[in-house]
Amino acid sequence: MRVKLVAGNWKMNGSLASSQALLKAILPPLAALDRAHYAVCPPFPYLAAVGQALRGSKVQLGAQDLSQFDDGAYTGAVSGAMLAECGCRHVIVGHSERRTVFGETDEIVAAKYAQALKHGLSPILCVGEVLGERESGVTETVVARQLDAVTARCGTQALSRGVVAYEPVWAIGTGKTASPEQAQAVHAFIRGRVGAADRRTAEALLILYGGSVKAGNAAQLFAMPDVDGGLIGGASLVADEFVAICRAAQSAQETVRT
Ligand code: PEP
Repeated sequence: MRVKLVAGNWKMNGSLASSQALLKAILPPLAALDRAHYAVCPPFPYLAAVGQALRGSKVQLGAQDLSQFDDGAYTGAVSGAMLAECGCRHVIVGHSERRTVFGETDEIVAAKYAQALKHGLSPILCVGEVLGERESGVTETVVARQLDAVTARCGTQALSRGVVAYEPVWAIGTGKTASPEQAQAVHAFIRGRVGAADRRTAEALLILYGGSVKAGNAAQLFAMPDVDGGLIGGASLVADEFVAICRAAQSAQETVRT
């Protein structure tokens, strides 16, 4: 049985003080949720302090990116080894903002995925189409290309050591959420594509949805059979919203069990 995961992507927001205040608000209510898994991905400089604050809680630590290189003369980059040392369990790879703003290609994303695995991190691989691609009917082609770049480099079974996040770019930070049916269709496509190569990997694969998930729409999204949780941007910075989204994952998980 797949266990739902909700991961908060704080992006480049907040301060050390606001991070601590957010944790103070979310950790007590999250302590009561025992069915699903929860993670937060703060900016690099806050990883150590956030990791410290998470000690004793079940909330996992994640990073938002990592270098495709091992170590050396790569000014500004942060390696998988460093993230592992900071206590990270997850790392987001190939977020659309990394792809579009920082020019990361499918090949770079695949190299980052490989680095994450090498250092025992669970990569959260983001895939998704821009609005024009959806409107031209090539969503599946785009998602398949992004996924295949990783499986070509790391093998299909490598997906069992990470998580896929379907994040339609037109839904990220825009307030426009994919409908539960739109999300389910792409998630089923992803599972089917992985399953054509390796059925067991596909069945166990966590596929998160990301793109304007809020307290008000999380339950409907998480009720879809192939939606295994969410990657949450803006709403992960608002304590009540994030806790409500985590509660929706807990309830959806309870429904799966019964
Ligand atoms: C994200 O940053 O991955 C994301 C899904 O953002 P938002 O929830 O704000 O759309």
